[in-house]
Amino acid sequence: MPSNTIRQDFPILARTLGQGKKLIYLDSAATSQKPSQVIDAMNMYYRTVNANVHRGIHTLAEEATEVYESARKKIARFVGVGDERQIIFTRNTSESINIIAKSWGRAHLQAGDLVLLTEMEHHSNIVPWYMLRDEREVEIQFIRMTADGRLDMDHYDALLTLNPKLVAFTHVSNVLGTVNPAKSIVDKAHRAGATVVIDGAQSVPHLSVGIEKLDADFYAFSAHKMCGPTGIGVLYGKRELLESMPAFLGGGDMIKKVTFDGFKVNELPYKFEAGTPAIAEAIGFGAAVDYLSSIGMEQVFDHERALTAYGYDALSAIKGLKLLGPDAANRSGVLSFTIEGIHPHDIAQLLDEDGIAVRAGHHCAMPLHEKLAIPASSRASLYIYNKEEEIDALVKGLIKVIEVFK
Ligand code: PMP
Repeated sequence: MPSNTIRQDFPILARTLGQGKKLIYLDSAATSQKPSQVIDAMNMYYRTVNANVHRGIHTLAEEATEVYESARKKIARFVGVGDERQIIFTRNTSESINIIAKSWGRAHLQAGDLVLLTEMEHHSNIVPWYMLRDEREVEIQFIRMTADGRLDMDHYDALLTLNPKLVAFTHVSNVLGTVNPAKSIVDKAHRAGATVVIDGAQSVPHLSVGIEKLDADFYAFSAHKMCGPTGIGVLYGKRELLESMPAFLGGGDMIKKVTFDGFKVNELPYKFEAGTPAIAEAIGFGAAVDYLSSIGMEQVFDHERALTAYGYDALSAIKGLKLLGPDAANRSGVLSFTIEGIHPHDIAQLLDEDGIAVRAGHHCAMPLHEKLAIPASSRASLYIYNKEEEIDALVKGLIKVIEVFK
């Protein structure tokens, strides 16, 4: 994949920081950069179409509804979903999972029901279930990780004999980069009679994901990690599940009828989209999937895999640096590490002086860090616009950091 051509699509990559340092952005797992195609689509909407959707019969309202709904169709196609009414726009992955816990969970789970999570979950796929536990006294158990950061499928099999009602797991770990065997996890859960929630925040941006092929019951992801804007994400659900769930937020758009007695909920997807939606963001999201589709998700994945392998070897060669997670063959473009005797915040701060943006901390996965018995880690995360020279600069920067702290 010609990363130099791709880089020209991302205006921010031309930025220099501090004393003329070129920006080396290695924090795409937190949020990706946005190509001109996305920025321009949102700009075009505000400049030429802006009106509220679904409510008007004037030209702008009709055009706005058309571009908004066509974004939903594009996104459905992009993730292998036949019926776009199962694509519900939310604010982000976190909100999507909260809706599942608060609507489906409250309606279908009772005290004593078992929920399985994994030890590598982001807080967004832990805390909503803890909140439900506080309300409903459901039981939560964690599928263990192996020493090299993969799911322990034997432990999973053992937990399935306890008849869990729900299995919720991340498709790709935001700390370890582990690509979990989603299809096998889903099939096993279904054989055990459990419903499955997949956190796709780190998978949809990086792999070709077919939600219906996976047979996931629920799937959640965010636009901002896949070249799209912040403020919009998706909750996918199987039709019968979404139909069986009570509406979560009440207001405009989510109703069919309101009387002095009560209300009747609207059809999918509007049932879960109360109030004026993030219209420009949906249009930007549609432009983002057009952009990724024009590159091809196989190409995206191959590029990242090659760059990850390059980075894995280069970082492994640094004395005192310990990479977290599985080998390069089993991960996507996330390289988290610790360096003996140096705090991740110091590493990030010194790299920043060279224009290199990496993340330091627990990456919203405190239990995972507890399991690894480390308080924090540093994370370099890659995307379509990164190139080998940037990994070389990271390695050089890290060697400098180690020298400073010697
Ligand atoms: N799950 C995973 C695996 C993530 O990496 C993230 C973002 N860091 C989230 C959930 C939450 O995404 P958002 O902040 O967009 O809700």
